[in-house]
Amino acid sequence: MSRSPNILIGAGIGGLACAATLAARGEPVLVLEAGDYPGGRMRETHPGGLNVDSGPTVLTLPKVFEEIFSAAGENLKDHLSFDPLQVLARHAWSKNERLDLFANHQQSKQAIAEFAGGSAADGFEQFRKEARNLYQALYPTFMTAQKPSLFGLASQIGPFGAMKLRAGAPFQSLWDALGRYFPDPRLRQLFGRYATYVGSSPYLAPAVLMLIAQVEMEGVYAVKGGMAELARALAELCRRQGVEFRYGQRVTRIHAEHGRVNAVECADGSRYAARAVVYNGEPALLASGNLGPEVKSAISREILNTEPSLSALTYAWSARAKDFPLDYHTVFFSKNYHQEFKEIWDERTLPSDPTIYICAQDRAPSWETSANSPARKDMPERLFAIINAPALRQPRRKDACPPTAEAIAQTKEAAIQRMQDCGLHLEIQHEVCTGPAEFAKLFPGNGGAIYGQACHGWNAPFKRPGARSSLPGLYLTGGGIHPGPGVPMVALSGRLAAQAILSDQGKR
Ligand SMILES: Cc1cc2nc3c(=O)[nH]c(=O)nc-3n(C[C@H](O)[C@H](O)[C@H](O)COP(=O)(O)OP(=O)(O)OC[C@H]3O[C@@H](n4cnc5c(N)ncnc54)[C@H](O)[C@@H]3O)c2cc1C
Repeated sequence: MSRSPNILIGAGIGGLACAATLAARGEPVLVLEAGDYPGGRMRETHPGGLNVDSGPTVLTLPKVFEEIFSAAGENLKDHLSFDPLQVLARHAWSKNERLDLFANHQQSKQAIAEFAGGSAADGFEQFRKEARNLYQALYPTFMTAQKPSLFGLASQIGPFGAMKLRAGAPFQSLWDALGRYFPDPRLRQLFGRYATYVGSSPYLAPAVLMLIAQVEMEGVYAVKGGMAELARALAELCRRQGVEFRYGQRVTRIHAEHGRVNAVECADGSRYAARAVVYNGEPALLASGNLGPEVKSAISREILNTEPSLSALTYAWSARAKDFPLDYHTVFFSKNYHQEFKEIWDERTLPSDPTIYICAQDRAPSWETSANSPARKDMPERLFAIINAPALRQPRRKDACPPTAEAIAQTKEAAIQRMQDCGLHLEIQHEVCTGPAEFAKLFPGNGGAIYGQACHGWNAPFKRPGARSSLPGLYLTGGGIHPGPGVPMVALSGRLAAQAILSDQGKR
């Protein structure tokens, strides 16, 4: 085996998790990153000079990262402080319709009973149990396993596990399944939001996504300093383990010889020999030949025909928030969810009456109460707003045009109005807007989609490529790769890529 390093193309969370896992086993690793920071979509923007998390905003399943650190002989908590959220999210439909979900499920049950009655609370109890069953059956057999097939999964979970899974009707749509527990449309809307956590429509996504409820109930954490600190902590861990990082290096071609990947080439003409290459970019770019003819067939071309996930219209604001008790996470729901998703998925336009998600980063429990909290001092605070939007890439069709400045302005106005209808008045001082066109430019290859491929249809989770490509020496990690998008899932995919390399290089 040559002494060339394993090359990671991209320092997203998948790339970093893979690099850290390989380096912890003493493997030489070189990371080539097109941008100038680690974390990819886990990024910050700077309205009015403030650091605002402008990608993922909370940490779930910290055990995944704890395991990555402990494999390297370190403790995550020595490098990162995180704060459990007692209120998972505040939800608002109008000035008088608000519902908090809590880390403590008894508190949530009580709140649901007060909001929608005792039978809704019983429905929640049933929903929660089924979400837990799904999670317990699928975490060890699907999420942490190298790309399982449906049949492989069935044999792994056994008849008892299969019975538990079937009870959750995982092949129904999430929306239909939620109807069994929640006759109240507002609760269906609230729990249907889990589909959007993986960039999908609640009307088309499989009910198996209910398991996200269990992921949240295991704990949702605000990271001190913002989520970008997690990416920096992982990059520092990599460095301490000897990983070399080169930023500003876009890989334009992956080379293979004698049926095996052996080198990569960058936009500036530099070439690096590699014993293995892990690609953390958009998988559609591989299949379309963008990284060279030798790797074009390394994954199925089917990826080009799959629907990209949602994109987003996002705003990082420094703003004063008045007349509404924002929590760390607050969701303001649209009046007509069905119409919202019809506009996004069928008409491929920005929603005319959007649901808005706001992260109020300065309101994390342990620092909101500090005397320096901006909200306490009536100073502008850091807010990050996400509105679902269609991606620009369309399967089997020409890419859609980006939304016009006028359409963006109209959607923003509707969002501000929606928040006002629920009581929130914002005095915005500074703003950074990132929409589908900007996401497509920052992370090319999937039309600005932010979560890989949409998870639509019962078998979508089985269609994602796995860590091993069909070309020896080429591996994959990221939101478009098994087990899918979201920060902990992507980290698992990085770990799976590292495990595949170690195993293929005979280092079990
Ligand atoms: C607005 C927003 C909100 C989100 N909210 C959440 C949330 O609340 N919870 C959650 O879990 N997830 C959330 N996500 C999704 C989450 O951020 C992603 O699933 C995850 O960060 C993707 O990681 P990744 O490993 O796929 O890499 P990416 O973040 O896609 O990074 C890939 C990296 O590879 C680099 N790269 C690509 N091609 C090349 C090349 N050819 N040469 C060199 N470098 C290359 C890119 O520059 C980039 O840095 C959100 C995302 C966004 C954008």
